[in-house]
Amino acid sequence: MVEEEWSLSDFEIGKFIGEGKFGKVYIAREKKSGYIVALKVIFKRKLEKYKFHSHLRREIEIQHSLYHPNVLRLFAWFHDDTRIFLVLEYAAQGELYKLLKNLHHFPEKRAATYVGSLARALAYCHEKHVIHRDIKPENLLLDFEGRLKIADFGWAVQSSAKRQTMCGTLDYLAPEMVEKKEHDHAVDNWTIGVLCYEFLYGVPPFEADGQYDTYRRIVKVDLVFPSFPFVSLEAKDLISKLLVKDSSKRLSVQKILEHPWIVNNVDPSGYCKE
Ligand code: AMP
Repeated sequence: MVEEEWSLSDFEIGKFIGEGKFGKVYIAREKKSGYIVALKVIFKRKLEKYKFHSHLRREIEIQHSLYHPNVLRLFAWFHDDTRIFLVLEYAAQGELYKLLKNLHHFPEKRAATYVGSLARALAYCHEKHVIHRDIKPENLLLDFEGRLKIADFGWAVQSSAKRQTMCGTLDYLAPEMVEKKEHDHAVDNWTIGVLCYEFLYGVPPFEADGQYDTYRRIVKVDLVFPSFPFVSLEAKDLISKLLVKDSSKRLSVQKILEHPWIVNNVDPSGYCKE
């Protein structure tokens, strides 16, 4: 699919799914093929208000170039006078965040399956010199079988050089970003550690009452493993090897995939049945 080949008349618009900062998301059916997609409708005037044009262009270019089972596909885009439409892969089970809130924390097999999927997707992104920089549960969607899909490339950059822009969401930020130092793909590896902890304990590791306290806990790597819920030593070992201040000493995505906790717990289908 290429820009301008498509228009709204090619789709039957269905149920409203949700609303983000820049527009609304609907389920839609491509009329000729019957294929179900998610149609994200972005209002140009909102983009202008937040001066977000270049960000969106970057998001489109990056996401459109990525083909991986754990990265949400952006099939196509088109626009009219007032709106931009993104034709996205439909993630029928919605946000992983909602599932985590419902279950409070995940059993180890489910957590490991998601961490394995994340590591595989990020290995692929990093190979293409794409750093996501804003991985958090809200940006992780689940398809109809429950397979994890990384979505929302609004903060991603395509670069092999070190970056200095401060961005991302507080609880998931690596120390080098908090301290406004140069950073590279290893910020995503830190975030895998934060997410692994949050999947198992239900809260991110450096949560605090105020922003400043969270910053301090991140910089100190003030990592505490509560006694409840029970989490295996292998899982704690993986987390401790990812939440490492020196970014060059963090486990690589390849080593995450070889870690015994991942090897012994990942569901080979890529999703959890129970
Ligand atoms: P966003 O504008 O990306 O923040 O999305 C607004 C809402 O739509 C959120 O609840 C998302 O979970 C949901 N959503 C976004 N993209 C998709 C998709 N491809 N499939 C299913 N739900 C989506």
